[in-house]
Amino acid sequence: MTSRPRILVTGAGGFIGHHLVRRLKNDGFGVRGVDLKYPDYEPTSADEFEILDLRKWDNCLQTTRGVDQVYNLAADMGGIGYITSYLADIFRNNILINTHMIEASRINGAQRFLFSSSACIYPGYLQKKPEVTPLKESDAFPADPEAGYGWEKLATEELCRYYRKDYGFETRVVRFHNVYGPLGTYDGGKEKSPAALCRKVALANDGDVVDIWGDGKQTRSYMYVDDCVEGLVRLMASDCHDALNLGTDRLVTIDELLGIIAGLAGKKLRIEHDLTKPQGVRGRNSDNTMLRDRLGWEPATPLEDGLRTTYLWIESELRKAGRLPALEKNARGKGV
Ligand code: NAD
Repeated sequence: MTSRPRILVTGAGGFIGHHLVRRLKNDGFGVRGVDLKYPDYEPTSADEFEILDLRKWDNCLQTTRGVDQVYNLAADMGGIGYITSYLADIFRNNILINTHMIEASRINGAQRFLFSSSACIYPGYLQKKPEVTPLKESDAFPADPEAGYGWEKLATEELCRYYRKDYGFETRVVRFHNVYGPLGTYDGGKEKSPAALCRKVALANDGDVVDIWGDGKQTRSYMYVDDCVEGLVRLMASDCHDALNLGTDRLVTIDELLGIIAGLAGKKLRIEHDLTKPQGVRGRNSDNTMLRDRLGWEPATPLEDGLRTTYLWIESELRKAGRLPALEKNARGKGV
């Protein structure tokens, strides 16, 4: 009987990494997690968990010992406010993690290495209108990615290609489009728009004003974390060597996103737009033609369903932290 592969998940203390570890354990694999920290909201289900700084070569060499597959999710990242504020640190931290991790994985004999890239690699010149044409994988060049974070992701995508060409190393590259769900950062500056809006709605009283970054007409598509994890597992098992979008193609404006969450919470809220804050590209959507073709599958969780689960989790965290005192006697929870 052959034993199942041993799998390493970097960034296993983070949002997607933590969910992925749980899924891989449920599937019966032996899993090692590694991160700078343990998961924030519940214990890891990994068999082993190492606290290591993966910017350091020796740590990458240590953590890749004896594994067959590597999901490399560790990254210095956050929402639009964060990634536009720390260009040098983000680029340097992530290029160190990724260059060391791919080489250490190869030297230690891993069979497959999956790199988590981002829709932030797509050129700004294709994302200037809210009613944007969905981005297909071949749109990445001529390059004009998001400063700092996006340039680093694109450089590491290329590095994966070079490792395959020069060493025959089996690499997989996924381009996530806005992942959301429970157990993700919802406060402190690194949170992304769905979590930030869930927090704002949960903390608001019926009739309050909620602030939105930008004019609210910018558009995005959002993928529930369970779909993200399913896509990761399918991509790793596939023979797809090309960078692949992983997201949904349902486009919503940020104002609409807030409207959905407020509706789930049973609150009527007024929106104030803060035009001094960064809002990222004007519109971004995923073209899933290649995803369907290569994986025979695409994310299917309806946005309303995923947001309901996410909102309820964030609301319960805020309640545990004693941050919802004024809300207990008003409309909280209606319709959720
Ligand atoms: P996250 O911030 O929750 O997780 C990343 C983890 O990496 C964190 O736990 C962090 O502590 C860890 N990390 C950072 N620096 C490290 C270091 N030097 N050594 C060891 N660990 C380190 O982010 P996430 O949402 O889970 O994202 C996972 C991956 O997916 C990242 O590569 C990210 O760039 C990519 N991605 C995510 C999204 C999204 O919508 N969440 C979108 C596009 C791409």
